[in-house]
Amino acid sequence: MSVYLDYNASAPIDIRVLDAMVNVYKNNYGNADSRTHDFGDQARKVVENARKQVASLLGVHSDEVFFTSGATESNNIAIQGLRKYAEKTGKKHIISTGIEHHSVLNTIHALGDEGYDVELINPDKSGRIDARQVLDKVREDTLLVSVMHVNNETGIIQPVKEIGDALTNKNVIFHVDATQSCGKLVEEVRSLKYDILACSAHKLMGPQGVGALVLRKKNYVLPPVSPLTYGGQQEKGIRPGTIPVALVAGFGRACEIAKEEYESNHNLYKEIKGSIISSLENSGVMYSLNGDQQFCVDSTINICFDGVSSEALMMSTKQYCGISNGSACTSKDYSPSYVLRAMGLSDDEALSSVRLSWGNTSDMADTINAFRMFLATVKSFQG
Ligand code: PMP
Repeated sequence: MSVYLDYNASAPIDIRVLDAMVNVYKNNYGNADSRTHDFGDQARKVVENARKQVASLLGVHSDEVFFTSGATESNNIAIQGLRKYAEKTGKKHIISTGIEHHSVLNTIHALGDEGYDVELINPDKSGRIDARQVLDKVREDTLLVSVMHVNNETGIIQPVKEIGDALTNKNVIFHVDATQSCGKLVEEVRSLKYDILACSAHKLMGPQGVGALVLRKKNYVLPPVSPLTYGGQQEKGIRPGTIPVALVAGFGRACEIAKEEYESNHNLYKEIKGSIISSLENSGVMYSLNGDQQFCVDSTINICFDGVSSEALMMSTKQYCGISNGSACTSKDYSPSYVLRAMGLSDDEALSSVRLSWGNTSDMADTINAFRMFLATVKSFQG
């Protein structure tokens, strides 16, 4: 059986999460906003309990957590939702990076097309943005600084701690896409200073189709985000529409489990990464690791295999493992990864690179066996 090594694209649902969801589907089928019967009250209790679980993992207040359909929607509300405020204040300068997920990058480009002044910072080969370069660009009319916490392709941790600390007393909104770090870098996420944060349940063994937008209050006031869709008053009008109670309950349970288990999970991630690296070192294949590993999470590795087409490699190793060569949202096209290109890799280097990512249901022995067979194929490609 092929071993799944694409957790950064989507992690398998934890069976305990699934159990919690099935229970809700069976027993709490009311609309959480129905006021006229107990079924609504019960559903509302489930939602509010989940909100507390998410808030507790992230170290925020539960009234700062807004449920959405996932990080794509959260990022869109975070960025596009600032339009009204930008019009009112005349602040239309946006600073971000060239390695953001497309849900951030394309949203910012859309504002750029509307006349916003957008500046994107690229990292060097380390894969890490220079915090100083971001901060030096901040001006009187800067509306938004948006930097992801962990890059989904390289696993490189970005200096959002430094940026957030430096921006605390500035009149600039700081948005962090923490989709790849929530539930993994638990203490780091809690220690961040930001105005808006985005995450998705399915990256932390929760269900697909639900996520959170976290709006941090300053002096009891939420960031000036307006809704993108209009409807009822669900999620205080920020994200109208019937709350998917079971999805939200699953998200909450996934956060609760992550909070209890992140330390032991981390040890497993580290062990797997150590074994992958030693297999690489002993394999005789020609490779380089993309991104400075001192900044890389222990659950991701991005490897360039000299002279090997990643597409051909993935096709030939499908029976051993499921990996990728870019974010899932772009894996339908064969162009080189924009993240690796932004780091200064050549087209050829980017087209020879693959990403492996694992999680807490990964089996150490299966993973390493699959990786060794994968490396044997790389070796045959390199002749
Ligand atoms: N941001 C990052 C960093 C991601 O990795 C992803 C998922 N690949 C997203 C945002 C979007 O998440 P979703 O597809 O769940 O909306």
